[in-house]
Amino acid sequence: MPLPPTKLPDVGTTIFTVMSKMAQEHGAINLSQGFPDFNPPSRLTDLLGQYTTRGYNQYPSMAGVPELREQIANKIRLLYGADPDPETEITVTSGATEALFVAIQTCITPGDEAIVLDPAYDAYDPAIRLAGGIPVHVPMTLPDFRPDWGRIERSITPRTRLIIVNTPHNPCGSTLSAEDLARLDIITLERNLFVLSDEVYEHMVYDGGSHHGLLTHDSLRRRSFVVSSFGKTYHATGWKVAYCAAPIALTEAFRKVHQFVTFTTHTPTQWAIAEFMQSDPQHCRELPAFYQKKRDLFLEEMAASRFRLTPSAGTYFQLADYGEISSMPDTEFARYLTTEVGVAAIPISVFYETPPKATFVRFCFCKEDATLREAAAKLRTLDRV
Ligand code: PMP
Ligand code: GLN
Repeated sequence: MPLPPTKLPDVGTTIFTVMSKMAQEHGAINLSQGFPDFNPPSRLTDLLGQYTTRGYNQYPSMAGVPELREQIANKIRLLYGADPDPETEITVTSGATEALFVAIQTCITPGDEAIVLDPAYDAYDPAIRLAGGIPVHVPMTLPDFRPDWGRIERSITPRTRLIIVNTPHNPCGSTLSAEDLARLDIITLERNLFVLSDEVYEHMVYDGGSHHGLLTHDSLRRRSFVVSSFGKTYHATGWKVAYCAAPIALTEAFRKVHQFVTFTTHTPTQWAIAEFMQSDPQHCRELPAFYQKKRDLFLEEMAASRFRLTPSAGTYFQLADYGEISSMPDTEFARYLTTEVGVAAIPISVFYETPPKATFVRFCFCKEDATLREAAAKLRTLDRV
């Protein structure tokens, strides 16, 4: 029996699965794949149980439970000043992964080009290829991981349809500024490009900074799909509930695809999140301080190590430069850390089309303080390898 032809010949298993499996096999502390080792708020898990037993278990509306969409629109109004219509401009999806995939299928037809900024979260490139498109990888600047707008502009061709941005940025922890949005607006307005903005870490921006999401920009948001995920915000990565906010015409096109990818999303979880958003709006406001404390604890615990860490501006990831410890390639070094030191990390070269000569690994700090202390103690023992 011949194998089916593959549309993704160069794609293996994602680095997150590879590293988590390695961590498990070697009993290493898992600071690789991004998920908390603590639970969502107990009120939220209680609500999920209640909605399930009260019978909220059948298909909800294709675009998502209206009460949840209403809460999302409220939040956007309060935080970003935009005023999306929950009926026609917000769609609940089964994880941000689904929203990203659907937005890309919505914009890209065969032969179209989509610009992604490297290092890029690993879901973008395959989704572009599956749509028959051509991913055009443009590296961000080093060592601060900012978009190189000049280079981005020079990469645009008559076939370019879409630019994908991610703020706060996974894996680097950098964020877009208001000036970046202004630049992105000019570039995309002149050329009629769509923008897909992955903002799943919108509530994790540190040191008093603001989240410059695309919904804060009056002009940009008219041609943008903005994606966020409750998995991050509520410490529930396995719940896979997220959303896409986009103007009415883009949302119509988005839903045409969404209805045939998942149709809709787990019902009781949507109800539980809707009620929790209404009753506990402080959760999002408290998140930056909650995670900044963890970031700072990790930085402090790592200060006496030979790793060099520049504080992450957002996300729950922290890059660490291991150049003073080893000249191994980062994939090899991440494997060494996992199997020999007992702490799993993510190499960042895997997020590049053409990896630079750099020595960074990514640690995830959405962990109990004791986990972070224990991991840092192991990492401090490293001298030169
Ligand atoms: N985008 C980025 C940048 C992420 O880090 C993740 C993490 N999981 C996702 C999208 C996917 O989110 P979800 O789990 O809601 O599919
Ligand atoms: N987004 C998570 C991370 O960056 C992992 C998501 C996944 O495992 N697919 O670690």
